[in-house]
Amino acid sequence: MFYILVQDSGFSNEVMELTKVFYPHFIFRIVDSLDHMSEEDWCLQCLYSDENSMITTWVKLYSGRMLACEKKSEERIQGEPVGLERRKQVKNAIKRCVYDMLSEYTGRQYKWGILTGIRPTKIVHQLFDKGFSDTDVKEILIDEYRISKEKAELLLNTAKTQRPLLINNYEKKISLYIHIPICRTKCLYCSFPSDTLEHCKAFIDDYLTALTHELNEVVAPLLLRGYTIQTLYIGGGTPTALHNSQLESLLKAVCQIVDVKDVDEFTVEGGRPDSLNEENMNIMKKYGVTRLSINPQTMNDDILKLIGRDHTVDQVLSCYYKAREIGFPVINMDVILGLPGESVRSVSRTMDFLSELNPENLTVHTLAIKRSSILKESLQQFKLPAGEEMMEMLEMSQNTVKKMGLIPYYLYRQKYMLGNLENVGYARPGTECIYNIQMMEEQQTIIAVGAGAVSKIYYKDQDRIERVPNVKNIAEYISRNQEMIGRKRKALNLS
Ligand code: SF4
Repeated sequence: MFYILVQDSGFSNEVMELTKVFYPHFIFRIVDSLDHMSEEDWCLQCLYSDENSMITTWVKLYSGRMLACEKKSEERIQGEPVGLERRKQVKNAIKRCVYDMLSEYTGRQYKWGILTGIRPTKIVHQLFDKGFSDTDVKEILIDEYRISKEKAELLLNTAKTQRPLLINNYEKKISLYIHIPICRTKCLYCSFPSDTLEHCKAFIDDYLTALTHELNEVVAPLLLRGYTIQTLYIGGGTPTALHNSQLESLLKAVCQIVDVKDVDEFTVEGGRPDSLNEENMNIMKKYGVTRLSINPQTMNDDILKLIGRDHTVDQVLSCYYKAREIGFPVINMDVILGLPGESVRSVSRTMDFLSELNPENLTVHTLAIKRSSILKESLQQFKLPAGEEMMEMLEMSQNTVKKMGLIPYYLYRQKYMLGNLENVGYARPGTECIYNIQMMEEQQTIIAVGAGAVSKIYYKDQDRIERVPNVKNIAEYISRNQEMIGRKRKALNLS
């Protein structure tokens, strides 16, 4: 067990997440005393004071009850911050002290430094908002957040691509997300609460009826009040796992409420190629879909089989060529680095295929071993690539996207990622998925309908998001449909 004992419990989680980066194989617990600590346990203890414009931090690492190392740091408060801004400075000073001590003790440094959050680009936008130049921002990322030069550049470039698309946000320009939490089968690494087609077949029609009702009761009144939909995204799950007639009735219902000619982009996450066919692609084209995701994850049949994806490389290829023939203006493809059985050689094969296909968007994920996935439960059965190998795979993918002329446009990090790395969406300039940017940067209201969908209402004056979740279970969503609608109408002042 690894105990975390922080003087101010408000900082405990962040200190714990940072310590986990150095000690990923331990089980952690936040405590307020060390009474139960045994000889086998470890503990990181953290004290601080914030007085006379100085933040003083003391960090101690214990192995058993023995002191393994300690560090003290003193930092001057910058400016005259109060409230949340002051706490943020204190928190970062503590994290720097923890990072520096663990880094010296273990001899390891991590490219993301003290950052443990999901959305690191937000920091860059906040710095730009305060008027810092590119050079200042890069320096701050490297010096204050201990981020490597390479990741600082990645963050900076990603935020700069996003900025022109975020700057024109206004209160009544929103996005709409429609969730279809259904898949043909469950992928090995998946932790999304999606149901299998086989299991929920009997409720799908009722689900679509409930979803359409939610659209009519929430989205239609917003449009009547002068709101406009900037981006429309049907995701999952696998929306194209629906029967073609069901998909058509969903698209028809959407188009009766939203004039898709007026939206900047209309995306459907086809996802798994085994769910796409000429007929459903033609249906999507007919209803104005402008962006389609076809996600191979890897272009190696043996690995596809191992991870429970019921499709082959040939299916990816034929599906891609068909989508091109039908004429979707933008195709996105997703890959995951670090899948079980993957090697530098197999990733190289995947990247060669993708480079040849040349999609407008390519999203490169790093495998995250999520708690609720089948992979986590059966981890011992699989060989996963290790740190150095992961770095090589990442480097190779970055070289390929560069050669393809793609630029990074959105980025996020997750817990339990192999090598403590990141997920990056790349795009040919001008084809960035605006929805992905809005969703990640949280500077726009996103209305999300369907089981498990979480709406985010953005309050610009407070730069704050309020989350309004729907229940995850499909049957429960159907039976509590009116309640879900009521929640959202109340939050949006529609009642
Ligand atoms: S297709 Fe996506 S949502 Fe469905 S099981 Fe696989 S990873 Fe999960």
